[in-house]
Amino acid sequence: MKAEIISVGTELLLGEIVDTSTPFIAQHLADLGIDVYYEATVGDNRKRLTEAIRQAEQRSDLVVLTGGLGPTEDDITKTLLAELVDRQLVTDEPAQAKLDEFYTATGKPKPTHADLMSQFIAGADVLPNQVGFAVGMLLTTANCIYLVLPGPPAELQPMFEKEAEPRLAQLVTGKPVISSRVLRFFGIGEPALEDQLRSLITTQTNPTLATYAKRNEVTLRITASGEDADEVAHKLQTTIDAVLARVGTYFYGYGDDNSLEQVVVGLLRKHQLTITAAESLTGGLFQSTLANVPGVSAVFAGGFVTYSATTKEQLVQVPAATIATNGVVSKETATAMAQGAQRQLHTDLAVAFTGVAGPGAADGHPAGDFWVALALPNGTVQTKQVLFARDRNLVRDYAVKTGLKMIYD
Ligand code: ATP
Ligand code: MG
Repeated sequence: MKAEIISVGTELLLGEIVDTSTPFIAQHLADLGIDVYYEATVGDNRKRLTEAIRQAEQRSDLVVLTGGLGPTEDDITKTLLAELVDRQLVTDEPAQAKLDEFYTATGKPKPTHADLMSQFIAGADVLPNQVGFAVGMLLTTANCIYLVLPGPPAELQPMFEKEAEPRLAQLVTGKPVISSRVLRFFGIGEPALEDQLRSLITTQTNPTLATYAKRNEVTLRITASGEDADEVAHKLQTTIDAVLARVGTYFYGYGDDNSLEQVVVGLLRKHQLTITAAESLTGGLFQSTLANVPGVSAVFAGGFVTYSATTKEQLVQVPAATIATNGVVSKETATAMAQGAQRQLHTDLAVAFTGVAGPGAADGHPAGDFWVALALPNGTVQTKQVLFARDRNLVRDYAVKTGLKMIYD
């Protein structure tokens, strides 16, 4: 199936807002095995929107329209499409009832065109809007399939995932149940992950696998369809097992919103392990990242930012000789920092970071060269050297995640 996405809105053309919906839709269509061949942005203008829709109908099987479903004069998408497919607009009673209830309850005057929001093109499958009032639609004509979605991302995203995706899945796969699982990886790039999974990605269509690059991380979305939930769950699990057999060392968790720090804090809490840190390179970013997670106080009381050689000596008792002999960016200094922090606060674990964030080289080390040390409860220290030659803040983020992944492992 070939798809085209048309986002409607003059504010998008003016650059006032950034179009986040097109990539969102494109990614989700890719998961469904639907190929997006064209993307367009059109202002709230009848003539140009007509041209865009006519052109899309010619060359695509699925035309996705977003925006312009609201109650104002410039919201023309629905009425125009109704004219183009030569069908009437009819009222969706549940949506109309919800709208009327809102205006009765709040006592606000109902805008002139408000009722348009609860109307749909005759014959379309109505997609209810859980967040706002404008209904979406999936309309199949002899020509084309049209998917019409509201502009605000907070309305579009749940409507797409809850309402549109299952219907599209049914259209594409002929199967009633579709489900996906997101796996999260750190320490491997998207191209390398794809290489490792190449044969799985190219040989199978159910489940499908799609990789996404995130900030210093990669996620993999596995989507399966089937006759019932058990069949889909089984398919997903079989593929997850195959994926983890290949790249399990980089895996740390499931889910779209499940960050590495959340996973790590969850594990620390579960095993009742306290933690601290001595941070040079990361300047407190590791501790700040931990503090993003609600409930971290059960395992984290505080720590050290030891940016200069002097503070490494003063705050976490790194012997001056260690620094003099090995340099600041060294396994020995990282180890002494971690041990010192662990000793100072009597924690089970302590992480230390020392290295060169960049942009330039320092102390004879290139930018992006760093050491992470993890002091363990049994008195041993694990260390890791990384050379990650990127932008300064990416380096610091990568270092924090390296530390978190060492704890996870
Ligand atoms: P409304 O009922 O709010 O008028 P609508 O369906 O008519 O909704 P638009 O008027 O086109 O949608 O857009 C409403 C707002 O949603 C925009 O001002 C913008 O903030 C946001 N929005 C619209 N399209 C996009 C997009 N493609 N990416 C990101 N944000 C968008
Ligand atoms: Mg609008």
